[in-house]
Parts: sequence; structure tokens; C-alpha cells
Amino acid sequence: MKKILVQLDSDKQASVFDAITAYDAGVDNLLQYGDITPDQVRDLVYGAMFTRGDESLKNSAVFIGGSDVTVGEKMLQAVKDSFFGPVRVSVMLDSNGCNTTAVAAVRKIMSIGDVKNKKIVILAGTGPVGMIAAALLAREGANVVLTSRGLEKSTRAVSIIKERFKTDLTPAQVSNVDESAEIMENAYGVFCAGAAGIMLLPESIWLAHPSLRVMADANAVPPLGIENTKPHWSGKEKEGKVIFGALGIGGLKMKIHRQCVAQLFSQNDLVLDAEEIFDIAREMEK
Ligand code: NAP
Repeated sequence: MKKILVQLDSDKQASVFDAITAYDAGVDNLLQYGDITPDQVRDLVYGAMFTRGDESLKNSAVFIGGSDVTVGEKMLQAVKDSFFGPVRVSVMLDSNGCNTTAVAAVRKIMSIGDVKNKKIVILAGTGPVGMIAAALLAREGANVVLTSRGLEKSTRAVSIIKERFKTDLTPAQVSNVDESAEIMENAYGVFCAGAAGIMLLPESIWLAHPSLRVMADANAVPPLGIENTKPHWSGKEKEGKVIFGALGIGGLKMKIHRQCVAQLFSQNDLVLDAEEIFDIAREMEK
């Protein structure tokens, strides 16, 4: 029986990136729907739920994408609300690639060692990638500090994470070089999660912090988030730090994305959000 993936995308045009990744993950047929709003989800999901019964249900699955993560979360809820007991299909949420990117960055940081009780700074962590990475690191026991140019924004992001992930972390403001230097005091790790093309950590600051052991950067667009690093670095040692650039993280992100899509077709009741995608990535390393 053919593996059919229903791609629900909140953007006008459903993502080509997500489509190609789905085919590379072994999907036979992709049904793409763009410009989807949460209220349109139920009828589309019914089409996947009611066509193939019992054992065959696992051959249909749903993928939620699009650049708006908040809409993606509402779409995921609408998918889950459509199910009747065992009459359901597996579903994955990766709006804007934020789950798979954050998971890949966190797994790279954790490849250096345990993060429990270690201070990790998420610079410009108020976007989707930073928030998910911060949440996952906090769940692993790290002392996470999530920064923004404005304290109010980082406080709001932290309260959303606390509510959603039931974990603790600290908001902070970093709006200039002095505040960057101060926030890095005694940090073991840093993840630059800022928008593309924004340099957040000057070399003079990261060199000056001997406690800093691991650095990761999500930004592949020059200037990079961490000054004087390379996007393709994947565990490069420099001045006593282990550094992961955006392309180094991106390679793992692609593997995780493909593995998660493939796994959707192993059973009909998976819900793959950040935590489940993290668990799959951890399993892949065994
Ligand atoms: P985002 O929402 O676009 O931006 C994250 C934060 O950057 C914003 O909340 C903002 O924080 C800060 N920021 C924006 N403009 C700034 C400026 N001029 N100066 C300083 N800070 C600024 O980011 P995202 O979507 O979470 O993505 C994070 C990074 O991951 C991006 O670089 C993106 O390109 C990359 N990414 C990579 C992949 C991949 O597959 N490799 C996938 C998705 C994303 P405040 O306003 O709170 O300061």
C-alpha cells in the first residue's frame, strides 16, 4: 500500500523544502495543501482517517508546516481534535523547521557532554528555534538563560515555554556588547538563535570567557551569529571551544527530519512535536 503524506501548510504555497524531504524520507505520494487555516484542517484530516482502516491506517500521515509557528500549533491541535479514539493517523509538526532545527542544535551541544546544572545562554532566543532549543535544554537540566533585546520580550517567551514545557529558565536582556559580555559570565554553552544575518557574539567576548566550552549558531547568513567562525564547522575546536555552525547543525537537522517523516508510517498514532522529535534524534545516535 502506498505511503501518502498530507502536507498542510499555512503559507500560500506549500513548502518545496518539506515536499522534497518527504520524498527523500520514502513517501510515495504527497498531497499538498497551501494557505490552510486551522478551521480547514478537520475535513482534510477526515479524508486521511476514513479511507484506510485498521492496520492500513498507518500508511497515511499528516505533516504540518508553514512559516507561522503559532498557526502551526493551532493546526496540530485541530488535527488531534479530529481523531476518534483509534481512528487516527500519525502527525508531525515542524513549522518553519523550528522543531528539527532546535533538536539538531541541542543534540550537537549535548554531544560534547552532559548539560545538567550547566549555564547555557540562548542569544536572541525569542524566535521559534531559540524557544524550542531553550525548552529542550532546560528539560535536560541545564540552567538556561534566554535573551532578547528587550526584557519584556524574553520574559514573555520564558513564560510561554514554562507553560508549555513545565520547565524552568531565566529571561534576560542583551541589547549591547556590555550586556553580551556580562551574560556570558560562567556560561558553559551558548546558542545563537538570532535572525539570519545578525552577528550576536563578537570574538572578543567568546575568547574572553574560559568557562565557555561549546558554541552553536543557527544563522548561516553572513555576518554569522558568532564572529570569526564558519557555518560548516561541526565540532571544530578553536581556542578551547567546540563550535557548531549553521550548516553543521543543518546536516543533522535534515537527517532528523527524514527519520521523523519515515517513522510516521510505522504506526497510526504518533504525534511528533518537539519532545518526540528530540527522543527520535536521541535514538538515532544509538
Ligand atoms: P527569528 O524568529 O527570525 O529571529 C530570532 C530573534 O532574533 C528574534 O526574535 C529577535 O529577538 C532577534 N533579532 C531579530 N532581528 C534582530 C536584530 N536586527 N538584531 C538583534 N537581534 C535580532 O528566528 P528563527 O525563525 O527562530 O530562526 C533562528 C535562526 O535559525 C535564523 O538565523 C534562521 O535563519 C535559522 N534557521 C535555520 C534553519 C535550518 O534548517 N538550518 C531552519 C530554521 C531557521 P528580539 O527581538 O527578542 O531581540
